[in-house]
Amino acid sequence: MTLRHHRVYVLVCVALVFAAVFAVPVTFLQVRPAPAAPVAAGASLPTLVAAAATPAGAATPAGPQAWTEADLDAVGEDEGPEAPAPAAPAMTLADACRRLPGYGTIFVEPQPGDEGIQVFEGTFGRRTFFEVVRSHTRDLDAVAAIAEAVRRTQLFDFRRIRPDDRYRLFCAADGTVRMFEYSRSETEMYHVVRAGEASFVAHQVEVPVEDRVTRVAGRVEGALARSFVAAGLDASIMPLVTDIFSYSINFSRDVRRGDRFRVAVEERWVGGRFHHYTRILAFEYVGQLIGSVQAYAFEIEGKTRFFAADGSSVQRVFLAAPCRYEAISSRFDPNRMHPVLHVRKPHEGIDLVAPTGTPVYAIADGVLAFHGEKGPNGELVVVQHPGDMMSYYAHLSAYAPNLRDGMPIRRGQLLGYVGNTGRSTGPHLHFGIKLRGEFVDPETYLRSQRARPVPPAQMEAFRARVAELKAELARVPLPDGPAAAAPPPAPEVGYAPPADGGN
Ligand SMILES: [Zn+2]
Repeated sequence: MTLRHHRVYVLVCVALVFAAVFAVPVTFLQVRPAPAAPVAAGASLPTLVAAAATPAGAATPAGPQAWTEADLDAVGEDEGPEAPAPAAPAMTLADACRRLPGYGTIFVEPQPGDEGIQVFEGTFGRRTFFEVVRSHTRDLDAVAAIAEAVRRTQLFDFRRIRPDDRYRLFCAADGTVRMFEYSRSETEMYHVVRAGEASFVAHQVEVPVEDRVTRVAGRVEGALARSFVAAGLDASIMPLVTDIFSYSINFSRDVRRGDRFRVAVEERWVGGRFHHYTRILAFEYVGQLIGSVQAYAFEIEGKTRFFAADGSSVQRVFLAAPCRYEAISSRFDPNRMHPVLHVRKPHEGIDLVAPTGTPVYAIADGVLAFHGEKGPNGELVVVQHPGDMMSYYAHLSAYAPNLRDGMPIRRGQLLGYVGNTGRSTGPHLHFGIKLRGEFVDPETYLRSQRARPVPPAQMEAFRARVAELKAELARVPLPDGPAAAAPPPAPEVGYAPPADGGN
């Protein structure tokens, strides 16, 4: 649950309590004269939650500020002090448990004296249990009684509270502690509930954890992340989507208003509330620039990967090689003797032998960082890629037309032509990859990054799974498309890697 979610829930709580209180203001407000507890914007969470249970604190711009004590008294007289108990009384302990985040289906039976429950919550920080209780109420008798109930059950140990552990303290209108809640994690939660004048009972709360599949369709209106949220998804879906398509969809360039998407995603619900997305199961994007792109999750060797319906990987990241070549004349070697200089000089890339004029392609999407003459490199192209990676293409004879430093580059885009410029003994492409500031062996690196299709032995299982996932997606129809027919997606550019992967 994100902080943002949390805030939303708190605000919803404020609104709910507010509605409940002002729908039936009489009995409650007479019982509890309103202390001044304004809710400031940006107030800390405990303050807001406490205010949520305190009607006087539910001061929103509309309505309550216009009420005066006299107004309240007058309303009370209209209804009479003997008015029957309203259907929705002021927040009871049971109400509080249902309305606050993190409770889910937990239900506490209403008890006399529950009305006007205030909830204080927070993390322990460096405080002891005693200090926490003392900061919210003067009912210090409860401390010993709660400690005794916990000791009896040995459910947990107050001496082992960690600073990030959370608590909620439920106090009745007179300040007596009705319940203490202690959470060591989202799923490990304890309640210590008042059971009598001076006794409490402790129990561990069963927090239900459930995985659900949600299907959502939507249309792009502005930023993609915002469009996901507008369609009803949590913003935390975005990194999952970009992770799948990091190299097949460029989300800053290929996305257009009016594009459509649908997704089937697995969610983890904790305590009856959304907690996080476990994984995307199927995703379809219909773009005006990129056509229809689909990705289906399929597990191979225990790892979830994403494939198009035909079993090819949508996570294909790099070309297997930047050009067709006849041989590798010199490999990556941090200790090489230089063939021209005859000194020990690391070879920070690979030399691909190819005739002058052979086209050279960008191995991955990125931005053109540099092109020009650069000493021993001769005519050089440098592309900056996501993930702090650079690729280098040296000794070129010529550049692709219209290259401009800073321009976006697509995987497979023509950069230039093999040549023999700079410190070079024959036509070849010197190709290098720098990862986080260090040159790495391009052969090893490209091989490790190559996304494989579904293995033939698993194709049958994959097809069956895709049929299921297509049925999941089909349950949410895509919104209508834009009036103008979208152009077909651009064909795969240029270089087709050899079957063995090239290098
Ligand atoms: Zn070289």
